[in-house]
Amino acid sequence: MSQRRKPLRTCLGCRGTVEQDRLVRLVLAPEGNLLVDYRHKLPGRGAYSCATKSCLELALKPGALGRAFRKTPPAVDVEVVLAQLKQQLRARIDNLIGMARKARKVTVGGNMVSEALSRGEALGCVILARDISEGIRAKIVRKGKSLPLFEPEWMDKECLGRILGRAECSVLGIARDSFAEIMLEEFNRYNNLAGDS
Ligand SMILES: [Zn+2]
Repeated sequence: MSQRRKPLRTCLGCRGTVEQDRLVRLVLAPEGNLLVDYRHKLPGRGAYSCATKSCLELALKPGALGRAFRKTPPAVDVEVVLAQLKQQLRARIDNLIGMARKARKVTVGGNMVSEALSRGEALGCVILARDISEGIRAKIVRKGKSLPLFEPEWMDKECLGRILGRAECSVLGIARDSFAEIMLEEFNRYNNLAGDS
């Protein structure tokens, strides 16, 4: 366990002090519009919010944004910001799956995942394509009931396959390590947002 302190920032919404990398960064583009900078990569002055609808709604009020950016903020549509954030979270999750594949931390396909579960292999989570056949789905859900199972709303067999460099994929197991941990956090964040809106 690392004891190194991570930088803390205040959420503009709830005013809570949270590790910076758990917060969504908001930046003002040179054109004056507000951008979601989920991965904290854009230059310029940033403001932070928890990745929840309730905090973002408070954070995006003109008073809060005006104080954060020390200028009159643009009119912001909360739904547009939420849509940007969800889009960036989807891209982040797709990217993590691609990284897990490159690191050979994936088990691909219904049969392989099913066998891995039977052998008691250490999987951190299982991802199911939303158009998976009901039979395979039932089998994986039964065998993997102690594991986090995700059925991302944007991910069908073709989409999951594309990330893995194959035609399609219905089931993907992620080995139990840091990839799976980060993925779980991002999935939970996404599901919270999707459930809120
Ligand atoms: Zn907050």
